[in-house]
Amino acid sequence: MRNLQSLVAGSWQVGTGEPQTLVNPTTEEVVAYTSAEGLDLEATVSFARNEGGPALRALTLAERGAILEQMAKRIHEHRNELLELAMINGGNTRSDAKFDVDGAAGALAHYATIGKELGDTRVIVDGDGEQVGQSPRLSGRHVYLPRKGVALLINAFNFPAWGFGEKAACALLAGMPVICKPATSTAVVAARMLELIADAAPPGVVSLVSGSAHDLPKLLGYGDAIAFTGSSGTAQRLRALPNVMSAAVRLNIEADSLNAAVLGPDLEPGSDTWELFLRDLRREMTQKTGQKCTATRRIFVPEDRAEVLIEALVDRLGTVIVGDPFTEGVRMGPVASAQQHRDVLDGIGQLAENCDVVLDGRPAGGKLELKGAEVGKGYFVGPTLLQVAHDAPSKVHDLEVFGPVATIVTTPGTPEVYGQLLARGGGGLVGSVYSDDRKFAAAMLMEAAPHHGRLVFGSKKVAEKAFSPGMVLPQLLHGGPGRAGGGEELGGMRGLAIYAQRTAIQADRALIDAMLKA
Ligand code: NAP
Repeated sequence: MRNLQSLVAGSWQVGTGEPQTLVNPTTEEVVAYTSAEGLDLEATVSFARNEGGPALRALTLAERGAILEQMAKRIHEHRNELLELAMINGGNTRSDAKFDVDGAAGALAHYATIGKELGDTRVIVDGDGEQVGQSPRLSGRHVYLPRKGVALLINAFNFPAWGFGEKAACALLAGMPVICKPATSTAVVAARMLELIADAAPPGVVSLVSGSAHDLPKLLGYGDAIAFTGSSGTAQRLRALPNVMSAAVRLNIEADSLNAAVLGPDLEPGSDTWELFLRDLRREMTQKTGQKCTATRRIFVPEDRAEVLIEALVDRLGTVIVGDPFTEGVRMGPVASAQQHRDVLDGIGQLAENCDVVLDGRPAGGKLELKGAEVGKGYFVGPTLLQVAHDAPSKVHDLEVFGPVATIVTTPGTPEVYGQLLARGGGGLVGSVYSDDRKFAAAMLMEAAPHHGRLVFGSKKVAEKAFSPGMVLPQLLHGGPGRAGGGEELGGMRGLAIYAQRTAIQADRALIDAMLKA
């Protein structure tokens, strides 16, 4: 049984309080325990600020990139071990675990390359020089330099590896030391990963707090940053912290999202783009047992396509074998915790008050078949599909059910109505539009973009190669307005902005050039 360690003030320690237990969601067996009580959190913050920060800022961007490369390599070298831990503690299938662990290594490697390209400098220049007066000597330039504090990285339970990787890659390259605070229920993967990679950087650059150290954000002040991923309830608590408000601690929030997929009225059943739509829906509903912030929750379809679509989707979902992730052939494991299981079943119940249940994955429905596991043990729920008309009352535009659950919303199929329905989600991470009609796609861009951080357009030209919408790529922004938190992560260089101060330099042009070369 593991007792998860924390890396505080440069040394590995275990908490001394009543331990929190972490379980295997397939068997409900306890697999690890941890506690953050007794850890000196103030010392952790000041060690990161005073030791890690200066050491990291002294390095060039290329040198910081080399640290990220080393971290990515170590994750890759220990890939099998990490995958197995994700299967044990997260209920992930091996394929789900790869999505998380390889995603972490991929994000670190991507930013390692950006660091190499930025090269032998510690200043990131933003845009070209501007002439600010009549004389060309009067010049202006924007630069990014690291904030001189710590970045607290608070992650959700669903991506213990990638959640750290995507945030740490940007923070470390920008020049801020990080304190990683994984979600407790699935922290085994994050804790092991940090053991493997922390010493790739100088002491204090990477710290880890295992266990529910909910007071940690209260210790932050001027110059610090918090990158948070989790529920909007926790996000609201962080926003309201007096120290966060008074010291303008930079707070980036990645929260809930009622992601929608839109079917264009032009698509004929059986066409390449129709098949892409079905493939993506199946993946988004079942990958990681639907526990992805980017998973599709709302499926908007023209009324005259609903019947044939539902039949095809139910067929496809029927091929998803649910059970013990270690059993051959299983394609979907349990949700990650008992709490999560209760929330998903409760959420389906709430949706079902107004929607028809087309496919019922609830164990109580008696139709859930498991492979390698017993019904009644473990936190299983099968793919669940509901249906409602666009103008009927329902909770589909308000309630995020964080499991393998989606609702088909039947509509007239016009961009205007689709736009109104998208807006009712209150701001999302990713929207997807499937159509081979360019006019319809252009109209949907205008309707959908203001409500989303990312839009994916599926069409026949990309049908064979497209990534499904839930896949977050380091090149493109991740985040979204409104209920999604209003944050922005990744997106190449854009991802560094959270952790850096952008400063306009106004001076004579030769001086600016000289300072930037120094
Ligand atoms: P959560 O309960 O809000 O927890 C998220 C993190 O916050 C955990 O590390 C948790 O620690 C910590 N935390 C909880 N209360 C805190 C407090 N008062 N002060 C400081 N930290 C606190 O969310 P979750 O259940 O892990 O994640 C599910 C939610 O995350 C879903 O709604 C999903 O949509 C969202 N999500 C969003 C994204 C995105 O990128 N937008 C990605 C993944 C998930 P403990 O575990 O120790 O309590």
